[in-house]
Amino acid sequence: MIPYGKHFIDKEDIAAVIDVLRSAWLTTGPQVDSFETAVAEATGSGWGVAFSSGTAALHAAMYAIGVGPGDEVIVAAMTFAATANCVAYQRATPVFADVTPENLLIDCNGIEALITERTRAIIGVDYAGHPCDWDKLRRIADCHGLFLVADSCHALGSTYKGRPTGSIADLTAFSFHPVKHITTGEGGMITGTDPNLQLRLKRFRNHGIDSDFRQREKEGAWFYQMVDLGFNYRITDLQCALGKSQLRKLPRFLSQRRKIAGIYDQAFQNIDAVSPLAVSGDVEHAYHLYVVRIDFARTGSDRNTFFRYMQQKEIRTNVHYIPVHLHPYYREQYGTSPEQCPEAVKAYAQIVSLPMYPGLSETEQNHVIESIVQFFRGI
Ligand SMILES: *Cc1c(COP(=O)(O)O)cnc(C)c1O
Repeated sequence: MIPYGKHFIDKEDIAAVIDVLRSAWLTTGPQVDSFETAVAEATGSGWGVAFSSGTAALHAAMYAIGVGPGDEVIVAAMTFAATANCVAYQRATPVFADVTPENLLIDCNGIEALITERTRAIIGVDYAGHPCDWDKLRRIADCHGLFLVADSCHALGSTYKGRPTGSIADLTAFSFHPVKHITTGEGGMITGTDPNLQLRLKRFRNHGIDSDFRQREKEGAWFYQMVDLGFNYRITDLQCALGKSQLRKLPRFLSQRRKIAGIYDQAFQNIDAVSPLAVSGDVEHAYHLYVVRIDFARTGSDRNTFFRYMQQKEIRTNVHYIPVHLHPYYREQYGTSPEQCPEAVKAYAQIVSLPMYPGLSETEQNHVIESIVQFFRGI
């Protein structure tokens, strides 16, 4: 089976984890600090705070900027549920914004109509690895006094007008789940520049306590205070050693992903029913996903038939995503309805994610392309 996404681990990664197993620290220790520094450097941001998952990182971001009960946060509808869940965790309301049909990124033209007195922030999602139009989002956010948060879980290593993702929004979230660009098993990070937000993120990660164990040990002190209600969202030294080792390979991973995307782009030029998403001229795409829109209605076929066909060819395709406002939880708890974000709903009927990961061989990719060509020749 060729999956849609897959991690890549080598001997260096394994050795890095084994070294930590032999060291004095297993959880929050020197590896966490140095992984945070490495990601901050790689993304041109001031600092990084690492978490046990990308979801935990997003939740902490909402806490850090002070999102609470009664507040509203504008969230792109075409994303993984975690982007909206982090708002709901804080007992605030996610307000879903529609996306543009060309690249499924938040539609800046529709945002101002969603802003109310309770709006605190906008979360843009760099869907598939393509950065949002951050300059436009910044103008809207500044005009209304809102925080700008990037869910860049798809987009580590991408750039927008020459600026690296991670250095653009007030807070940027990354995920290190195995299907993402680099992995720590589970893990995530927030990057930013404001030292006050960094402090709040670290506190939230550690039960709301004002100092961490290592700080106290250095000072020979036992006293600490819990000043707010936080969580145990810590990541381990084992994971961060893996993350550092993976990060060294990021440039290679990105160029492999971009090469695969180029081959797909070329191959689908001659198949009318298959349209890759548009790529803007002012970004460097990170290609977490390679998404095509397939006009199944026009071909007289449907997506389930296509999925079954690809499965028979030992290829696993996927759908990213069911727009979040369609999930029963949001319909029941927040009264969302499909009509709120019609472009996201239209796209949902057509999108397919094709295999995209650094270890995908040329032979495997050719098999994917050939299978798709055959499918559309057959109908
Ligand atoms: C992966 C992902 C997350 C959550 O990350 P986890 O590390 O799996 O918790 C959030 N948002 C988006 C868009 C993602 O793709």
